[in-house]
Amino acid sequence: MKILDKVYAYTRLDEAKKAGLYPYFSPLPSTSSKQVMLGSNNYLGLTKHRQVIENSLAAVRAKGTSCTGSRFLNGTLAEHLILEKSLADFYQREDAQTFTTGYQTNLGVLASLTGKDDVIVLDKEVHASVIDGALMAASGGATIMRFKHNCAKHLATVLSRIPEDKGKVVVVDGVYSMGGDLADLPALAPVCKQHDAMLIVDDAHGSGVLGKQGRGTVDHYGLDNQVDLITGTFSKSFASLGGYVVGKNKIIDFIRHNARALIFSAAMTPMHIAAAMSSLQIMQSEPERQQRLLAHSKFMRRELAELGFDIGDPNNITPIIPIFIRDETLTIQFYYRLLKLGVYTNPVVSPAVASKDCLLRTSYMSTQSLHDLQFAIAAFAKVGQELGVIEIPVECV
Ligand code: PMP
Repeated sequence: MKILDKVYAYTRLDEAKKAGLYPYFSPLPSTSSKQVMLGSNNYLGLTKHRQVIENSLAAVRAKGTSCTGSRFLNGTLAEHLILEKSLADFYQREDAQTFTTGYQTNLGVLASLTGKDDVIVLDKEVHASVIDGALMAASGGATIMRFKHNCAKHLATVLSRIPEDKGKVVVVDGVYSMGGDLADLPALAPVCKQHDAMLIVDDAHGSGVLGKQGRGTVDHYGLDNQVDLITGTFSKSFASLGGYVVGKNKIIDFIRHNARALIFSAAMTPMHIAAAMSSLQIMQSEPERQQRLLAHSKFMRRELAELGFDIGDPNNITPIIPIFIRDETLTIQFYYRLLKLGVYTNPVVSPAVASKDCLLRTSYMSTQSLHDLQFAIAAFAKVGQELGVIEIPVECV
């Protein structure tokens, strides 16, 4: 088959557009129109913070719009090093390395650390960037194995099958980006230790959200000495663009000099360094943002569960709340009806999740008001009843 035959035979997209069921790659409405945004990862609401904006503009004026080169050669600024030192201090680790995106961080970390004598063991639900990092390592000879989501028992079984002489690394997400649940680190970390496996936590959605001053999932559990590396992104709570890994100096130095995703890509821009740096400072100086975010998450979980929505584990604590619809067409219809009422959510359908797990991903921001949340709840109740996703309360029938 010719390569382009497959492209022209790809009709799923046209069919979805024709049926009015294609919500992707759409520009967001202008911020002036009234809409409650439940689809952002701007958890602390810092993308519009005055200090973040001013420091970013000042950085562009002082240093220009691009580094036009790799960190390895002409792309390193003093500001990169200050940000890395500040991150290492924040996480109370020896060293940190920034990357141009969180996606590249996971590629760089996994493909540099592992090779033909190593096995990478992934939770079944880790983020695509972790999977792609493992695949890149596999092209260098590493073996990939998976274990059932958050199942310490299955992890132990998988690790026990790996020959003694192999290097082992286990990778989990701190907070799972679709389900909003936490890695069960208190159960998983001892298993890694017992089998002499490194443990890496991708905390893209935990940073700024959980733990003291927003240090993330590992700090939330108090398990710092049991996790070798934490990777993260600046594209969520940090209100910027870029990624990072923190850990022992010897490991970070190795990654720094071997990660192709770092060496062969242009460095974080001055603006993005400034935005990330300012956000890091605000996270520490304005802890009320994190507290408010967690209170919003608790409120929304309670309200959605009371309405009868299937939100997974109601005891989760993160600002990501899935609303399982479990039908692809219904999920997209739900999304459109909410949008019409002024509530933006993210419809997540196959292949991102299995068809039976289709969901609306809702996420919250500390800058939202109680009124915003109540407005959203009313919209969820209305559409949920109209589409038969939740029952109409008996007294209303
Ligand atoms: N890891 C996780 C768990 C993520 O959710 C994401 C982004 N959605 C990334 C990594 C990649 O981060 P970035 O957007 O900085 O590439």
